[in-house]
Amino acid sequence: MPDLLKKYKQMRDFGDTPEPSGAKTKKKTKLPLFVIQKHDATRLHYDFRLEMEGVLKSWAVPKGPSYDPSIKRLAMMTEDHPYDYASFEGVIPADNYGAGNVIIWDQGTWELIEPGDDPVKALAGGKLTFRLYGKKMFGEWALVKIKGRSTGKDNEWLLLKHRDAYANDKVDVTEVAPRSVVSNLLVEEVGPENVWISNRKAASRKPPTLASRLTKTKKTTTAKRPPRRATPSPAASARSRSSRAAAPRSARPTPRRRLR
Ligand code: MN
Repeated sequence: MPDLLKKYKQMRDFGDTPEPSGAKTKKKTKLPLFVIQKHDATRLHYDFRLEMEGVLKSWAVPKGPSYDPSIKRLAMMTEDHPYDYASFEGVIPADNYGAGNVIIWDQGTWELIEPGDDPVKALAGGKLTFRLYGKKMFGEWALVKIKGRSTGKDNEWLLLKHRDAYANDKVDVTEVAPRSVVSNLLVEEVGPENVWISNRKAASRKPPTLASRLTKTKKTTTAKRPPRRATPSPAASARSRSSRAAAPRSARPTPRRRLR
Protein backbone atom coordinates (compact mmCIF):
# COMPACT_ATOMS: atom_id res chain seq x y z
CA MET A 1 0.00 0.00 0.00
CA PRO A 2 1.46 3.40 -0.92
CA ASP A 3 2.32 5.71 1.96
CA LEU A 4 -0.25 8.48 1.50
CA LEU A 5 1.50 10.47 4.20
CA LYS A 6 4.94 10.49 2.60
CA LYS A 7 4.77 14.17 1.67
CA TYR A 8 3.32 15.11 5.06
CA LYS A 9 6.18 13.36 6.84
CA GLN A 10 8.88 14.78 4.57
CA MET A 11 7.72 18.32 5.30
CA ARG A 12 7.98 18.05 9.07
CA ASP A 13 10.52 17.43 11.83
CA PHE A 14 8.58 15.54 14.49
CA GLY A 15 11.34 16.08 17.02
CA ASP A 16 10.50 19.77 16.86
CA THR A 17 6.76 20.10 16.19
CA PRO A 18 4.02 18.70 18.43
CA GLU A 19 1.95 17.74 15.37
CA PRO A 20 1.09 14.01 15.06
CA SER A 21 3.70 11.94 13.24
CA GLY A 22 1.16 9.75 11.50
CA ALA A 23 2.52 6.60 13.13
CA LYS A 24 -0.86 5.65 14.57
CA THR A 25 -3.63 4.35 12.36
CA LYS A 26 -7.31 5.09 12.77
CA LYS A 27 -9.84 3.26 14.87
CA LYS A 28 -13.10 2.20 13.27
CA THR A 29 -16.11 4.49 13.45
CA LYS A 30 -19.39 4.31 11.59
CA LEU A 31 -19.21 7.46 9.52
CA PRO A 32 -15.89 8.97 8.45
CA LEU A 33 -14.66 11.99 10.33
CA PHE A 34 -14.30 15.58 9.30
CA VAL A 35 -12.47 18.38 11.04
CA ILE A 36 -11.94 22.06 10.38
CA GLN A 37 -8.88 23.53 12.05
CA LYS A 38 -8.48 27.28 12.23
CA HIS A 39 -4.81 27.88 11.61
CA ASP A 40 -3.16 31.20 12.35
CA ALA A 41 -0.14 30.66 10.11
CA THR A 42 1.61 33.22 7.90
CA ARG A 43 -1.88 33.76 6.55
CA LEU A 44 -4.90 32.82 8.61
CA HIS A 45 -6.91 29.99 7.05
CA TYR A 46 -9.22 27.12 7.83
CA ASP A 47 -7.95 23.60 7.15
CA PHE A 48 -10.88 21.52 6.01
CA ARG A 49 -10.22 17.78 6.27
CA LEU A 50 -12.30 14.79 5.23
CA GLU A 51 -11.38 11.29 6.29
CA MET A 52 -10.84 8.96 3.34
CA GLU A 53 -8.64 5.90 2.91
CA GLY A 54 -7.60 6.12 6.55
CA VAL A 55 -6.09 9.58 6.15
CA LEU A 56 -7.42 13.13 6.07
CA LYS A 57 -7.84 14.65 2.61
CA SER A 58 -7.12 18.33 3.18
CA TRP A 59 -7.92 21.75 1.78
CA ALA A 60 -6.78 25.15 3.04
CA VAL A 61 -9.71 27.56 2.90
CA PRO A 62 -8.44 31.13 3.40
CA LYS A 63 -11.83 32.65 4.23
CA GLY A 64 -13.41 29.63 5.88
CA PRO A 65 -16.83 28.17 5.09
CA SER A 66 -19.93 30.22 4.32
CA TYR A 67 -23.55 29.17 4.75
CA ASP A 68 -24.52 31.53 1.93
CA PRO A 69 -25.09 29.33 -1.16
CA SER A 70 -24.17 32.24 -3.44
CA ILE A 71 -20.66 32.39 -1.94
CA LYS A 72 -17.97 30.06 -3.22
CA ARG A 73 -14.88 29.80 -1.08
CA LEU A 74 -11.48 29.01 -2.58
CA ALA A 75 -10.10 25.78 -1.13
CA MET A 76 -6.52 24.84 -1.96
CA MET A 77 -5.92 21.12 -1.74
CA THR A 78 -2.91 20.31 0.41
CA GLU A 79 -1.10 17.13 1.36
CA ASP A 80 -2.93 14.26 3.05
CA HIS A 81 -2.73 14.45 6.83
CA PRO A 82 -2.70 11.50 9.26
CA TYR A 83 -5.96 10.48 10.85
CA ASP A 84 -4.91 11.55 14.34
CA TYR A 85 -4.22 15.07 13.11
CA ALA A 86 -7.96 15.58 13.59
CA SER A 87 -7.44 15.85 17.35
CA PHE A 88 -4.51 18.26 17.11
CA GLU A 89 -4.93 21.63 18.72
CA GLY A 90 -1.89 23.58 19.74
CA VAL A 91 1.10 25.53 18.60
CA ILE A 92 3.28 24.58 15.65
CA PRO A 93 6.62 26.07 16.71
CA ALA A 94 8.35 28.82 14.77
CA ASP A 95 10.57 27.62 11.92
CA ASN A 96 8.36 24.56 11.37
CA TYR A 97 6.12 24.08 8.36
CA GLY A 98 2.83 25.84 9.08
CA ALA A 99 4.17 27.56 12.21
CA GLY A 100 1.37 29.14 14.24
CA ASN A 101 -1.62 28.40 16.43
CA VAL A 102 -4.20 25.76 15.57
CA ILE A 103 -7.65 25.25 17.09
CA ILE A 104 -10.23 22.60 16.32
CA TRP A 105 -12.83 24.97 14.94
CA ASP A 106 -15.31 22.21 14.20
CA GLN A 107 -15.39 18.44 14.06
CA GLY A 108 -17.87 15.68 13.43
CA THR A 109 -18.71 13.11 10.79
CA TRP A 110 -19.54 13.32 7.11
CA GLU A 111 -21.18 11.25 4.43
CA LEU A 112 -21.02 11.31 0.67
CA ILE A 113 -24.24 12.26 -1.10
CA GLU A 114 -22.99 12.03 -4.67
CA PRO A 115 -21.60 10.98 -7.06
CA GLY A 116 -21.72 7.24 -6.44
CA ASP A 117 -20.70 5.68 -3.18
CA ASP A 118 -16.91 5.82 -3.42
CA PRO A 119 -15.51 9.09 -2.04
CA VAL A 120 -12.03 8.39 -3.43
CA LYS A 121 -13.47 8.06 -6.92
CA ALA A 122 -15.57 11.19 -6.45
CA LEU A 123 -12.49 13.07 -5.36
CA ALA A 124 -10.56 11.90 -8.43
CA GLY A 125 -13.46 13.14 -10.54
CA GLY A 126 -13.10 16.61 -9.05
CA LYS A 127 -16.53 16.96 -7.45
CA LEU A 128 -18.19 15.70 -4.32
CA THR A 129 -21.38 16.57 -2.55
CA PHE A 130 -21.59 15.58 1.09
CA ARG A 131 -23.44 16.06 4.35
CA LEU A 132 -21.73 17.31 7.48
CA TYR A 133 -22.68 16.46 11.06
CA GLY A 134 -20.60 18.86 13.13
CA LYS A 135 -21.23 21.41 15.83
CA LYS A 136 -21.05 24.38 13.48
CA MET A 137 -21.24 22.69 10.12
CA PHE A 138 -24.50 21.05 9.06
CA GLY A 139 -26.33 20.12 5.92
CA GLU A 140 -25.20 19.72 2.34
CA TRP A 141 -21.91 21.07 1.07
CA ALA A 142 -19.85 20.53 -2.04
CA LEU A 143 -16.22 20.63 -3.08
CA VAL A 144 -15.69 21.28 -6.76
CA LYS A 145 -12.33 21.34 -8.47
CA ILE A 146 -11.65 24.37 -10.64
CA LYS A 147 -10.77 23.27 -14.14
CA GLY A 148 -9.36 25.07 -17.13
CA ARG A 149 -7.60 27.79 -15.23
CA SER A 150 -4.57 29.32 -16.81
CA THR A 151 -2.81 29.68 -13.47
CA GLY A 152 -1.08 26.35 -13.89
CA LYS A 153 -2.27 25.35 -10.45
CA ASP A 154 -3.87 21.96 -10.11
CA ASN A 155 -4.99 22.20 -6.51
CA GLU A 156 -7.73 24.82 -6.59
CA TRP A 157 -11.19 23.80 -5.49
CA LEU A 158 -14.29 25.65 -4.35
CA LEU A 159 -16.13 24.93 -1.12
CA LEU A 160 -19.79 25.84 -1.30
CA LYS A 161 -23.05 25.43 0.54
CA HIS A 162 -25.96 23.78 -1.18
CA ARG A 163 -29.45 25.17 -0.74
CA ASP A 164 -31.17 23.35 2.12
CA ALA A 165 -32.74 24.11 5.50
CA TYR A 166 -29.37 25.27 6.88
CA ALA A 167 -28.44 27.61 4.03
CA ASN A 168 -28.27 31.13 5.41
CA ASP A 169 -27.03 34.41 4.02
CA LYS A 170 -27.36 36.34 7.31
CA VAL A 171 -25.16 34.39 9.71
CA ASP A 172 -21.40 34.45 9.15
CA VAL A 173 -20.44 31.25 10.93
CA THR A 174 -16.75 32.13 11.26
CA GLU A 175 -17.77 35.40 12.88
CA VAL A 176 -20.46 34.18 15.30
CA ALA A 177 -18.68 30.96 16.30
CA PRO A 178 -14.93 31.63 16.35
CA ARG A 179 -13.93 29.35 19.23
CA SER A 180 -12.53 25.84 19.47
CA VAL A 181 -15.19 23.18 19.90
CA VAL A 182 -12.93 21.23 22.28
CA SER A 183 -11.26 23.89 24.45
CA ASN A 184 -13.51 26.90 23.83
CA LEU A 185 -10.35 28.93 23.13
CA LEU A 186 -9.90 31.49 20.38
CA VAL A 187 -7.04 30.69 18.02
CA GLU A 188 -4.98 33.53 19.48
CA GLU A 189 -5.51 32.18 23.01
CA VAL A 190 -3.86 28.83 22.36
CA GLY A 191 -0.46 28.57 23.96
CA PRO A 192 1.92 25.71 24.75
CA GLU A 193 0.62 25.70 28.36
CA ASN A 194 -3.04 25.11 27.57
CA VAL A 195 -2.74 22.71 24.71
CA TRP A 196 -4.38 19.35 24.96
CA ILE A 197 -5.54 16.67 22.60
CA SER A 198 -9.11 15.63 23.10
CA ASN A 199 -10.11 12.01 22.81
CA ARG A 200 -13.62 12.78 23.91
CA LYS A 201 -16.34 11.53 21.64
CA ALA A 202 -18.62 14.04 20.00
CA ALA A 203 -21.57 12.18 21.55
CA SER A 204 -20.48 13.14 25.07
CA ARG A 205 -21.02 16.80 24.31
CA LYS A 206 -24.19 18.83 24.30
CA PRO A 207 -26.20 18.85 21.10
CA PRO A 208 -25.42 21.75 18.78
CA THR A 209 -27.41 24.92 19.03
CA LEU A 210 -26.09 26.65 15.93
CA ALA A 211 -28.35 24.52 13.72
CA SER A 212 -31.51 25.93 15.25
CA ARG A 213 -29.94 29.36 15.20
CA LEU A 214 -29.26 29.18 11.47
CA THR A 215 -32.78 28.13 10.61
CA LYS A 216 -34.32 30.59 13.08
CA THR A 217 -32.32 33.56 11.80
CA LYS A 218 -33.47 32.79 8.30
CA LYS A 219 -37.12 33.00 9.31
CA THR A 220 -36.75 36.28 11.20
CA THR A 221 -34.83 38.28 8.64
CA THR A 222 -37.06 41.31 9.21
CA ALA A 223 -36.06 41.61 12.86
CA LYS A 224 -32.62 43.06 11.97
CA ARG A 225 -31.10 42.37 15.34
CA PRO A 226 -27.33 42.54 15.65
CA PRO A 227 -25.90 39.02 15.82
CA ARG A 228 -25.23 37.80 19.32
CA ARG A 229 -21.91 36.18 20.06
CA ALA A 230 -22.11 32.43 19.95
CA THR A 231 -20.76 31.70 23.39
CA PRO A 232 -21.45 28.30 24.90
CA SER A 233 -24.03 28.07 27.65
CA PRO A 234 -22.68 29.05 31.10
CA ALA A 235 -23.32 25.51 32.27
CA ALA A 236 -21.27 24.03 29.46
CA SER A 237 -18.30 26.33 29.94
CA ALA A 238 -18.39 25.98 33.74
CA ARG A 239 -18.47 22.23 33.35
CA SER A 240 -15.47 22.04 31.04
CA ARG A 241 -13.43 24.61 32.97
CA SER A 242 -14.07 23.35 36.46
CA SER A 243 -13.77 19.69 35.54
CA ARG A 244 -10.33 20.32 34.15
CA ALA A 245 -9.20 22.54 36.99
CA ALA A 246 -10.57 20.62 39.95
CA ALA A 247 -10.82 17.02 38.83
CA PRO A 248 -8.16 14.59 40.01
CA ARG A 249 -5.48 13.82 37.47
CA SER A 250 -7.04 10.53 36.47
CA ALA A 251 -10.35 12.17 35.61
CA ARG A 252 -8.90 14.81 33.34
CA PRO A 253 -9.05 14.54 29.58
CA THR A 254 -6.25 12.47 28.17
CA PRO A 255 -3.09 14.53 28.53
CA ARG A 256 -1.41 15.73 25.41
CA ARG A 257 0.98 13.18 24.04
CA ARG A 258 4.53 14.22 23.39
CA LEU A 259 5.20 13.05 19.92
CA ARG A 260 8.77 12.66 18.85
MN1 MN B 1 -2.93 24.93 7.71
